[in-house]
Amino acid sequence: MDRYDTIIRGGTLVGATGRTVADLAIRDGRIAAIVEPGTPLGGDVVIDATGRHVLPGAIDVHSHHREPGFTRKEDIVSATSACAAGGVTTSFAMPNVDPPPNTVDRLDSMIELYEQKAIVDWNINAAGTVRDEIPGLATRGIAAFKVFMVVDTGRDYPHMPGIGVHDHGELMAIFETVAESGLPLMVHPHDQALMTHIEEGFWARGERDALAYAKAYAAHDGIIWDTAAALLLRIQESTGTALHLLHTQTSGVVEQLRRAKDKGQNVSAELNPWALFLGNDWANIERLGSYALSYYVPEKNTEPLWAALIDGTIDLISTDHAPHLREEKEPGWADGWKAHTGTPSTQFYVPLFLDAARRGRIGLERVVELIATAPADRFGLTSKGRLEVGRDADIAIVDLDAELEIRDEIVLSKIGHTPYAGTRVRGVVETTFVRGRVVYDDGTVVGEPGWGRQARPGSRESLVAEQRRS
Ligand SMILES: [Zn+2]
Repeated sequence: MDRYDTIIRGGTLVGATGRTVADLAIRDGRIAAIVEPGTPLGGDVVIDATGRHVLPGAIDVHSHHREPGFTRKEDIVSATSACAAGGVTTSFAMPNVDPPPNTVDRLDSMIELYEQKAIVDWNINAAGTVRDEIPGLATRGIAAFKVFMVVDTGRDYPHMPGIGVHDHGELMAIFETVAESGLPLMVHPHDQALMTHIEEGFWARGERDALAYAKAYAAHDGIIWDTAAALLLRIQESTGTALHLLHTQTSGVVEQLRRAKDKGQNVSAELNPWALFLGNDWANIERLGSYALSYYVPEKNTEPLWAALIDGTIDLISTDHAPHLREEKEPGWADGWKAHTGTPSTQFYVPLFLDAARRGRIGLERVVELIATAPADRFGLTSKGRLEVGRDADIAIVDLDAELEIRDEIVLSKIGHTPYAGTRVRGVVETTFVRGRVVYDDGTVVGEPGWGRQARPGSRESLVAEQRRS
């Protein structure tokens, strides 16, 4: 009888195209067999997953781990602990850290930190702001570049020098250089010229608190998002660069994406959980002020965003996990522009979407596709994203019937609080595996810093070869 390291028995395996009750066997960190329940198999560890759902681990391509430079908020260990507890098996770090990884030397130093500290698999979205560095950065196993169109607005955080570009010519030149690398370019859309005009209006009327800040970013039906997306999509059309548009949150951007995709443009887009579970309810913003902001997403966008998630106009879900300390949020009650923007979410977004699936808002298979399969495909992670023989055994076992009450006390992020506190959902992550090793089980992170590996993009051919071997 074949011998395996771990066998997960009797669970319902869920993929993008369907679900099936099966036994899944793991050997040497990979999925080695998927067989009829009860098939005789020898295993060192046997886990009974009867009544549970077995999902490919979530792949979050947009997270802010804050190290190096802002470890008072979060660090690689705390961020990847929260990932493990949330069923996230691969997390990509954004480059707004200090120093930002916009040169090869800086990226290499950051890679060294991750090799020592990460509990789950990881990658780093290098800042594509220094054109001469782009070809070198592309050789370091990264899966994408990131550019913010936001330039610093007077705060040292979150948009320090070195990560932002809003000059259109410079932006187009970066698109051209990244295109030569073949890697996708992630862009945070923003129109600072319009924002400056909008802000001046608010300030002239004496409106400065968190509610004013929320309204300013959403002003004129989200004009700053729509004009920035239009520019990016048009530059994409000319340069052919694989564009990944961040923070989809207006119906205007959804319509533009639909047109671009109809034309066959190489564009993908993400949705962040705050757009559907937090910032789309004005009552949350009144109650929580800056703690509820990432961004205000007026309620009229909610239906178009769900529709776009379901029909594929939006390709994937990533968190935009962005923890900030209370002392960085509190100033927002008086001056929303002085508070740091962003909300934490990596620990709880999978349960939030599982609950939405249970309520019939979206199909469970589509959730799996959005959180795991689509990000793996878009960013070339050929060994991840699916429960398939030969792929990495990156797995989350979830109980869709169990209730989770989100509370500050269970937050693993260093900041120790969450704007989702008080929310009750059905859908609990019980056990998380990264390459066959349990990193989280029954409420406890058991993974070790240094276990996580860089999730490098691979080639289709290597996966096929691996499947033949096993
Ligand atoms: Zn972000």
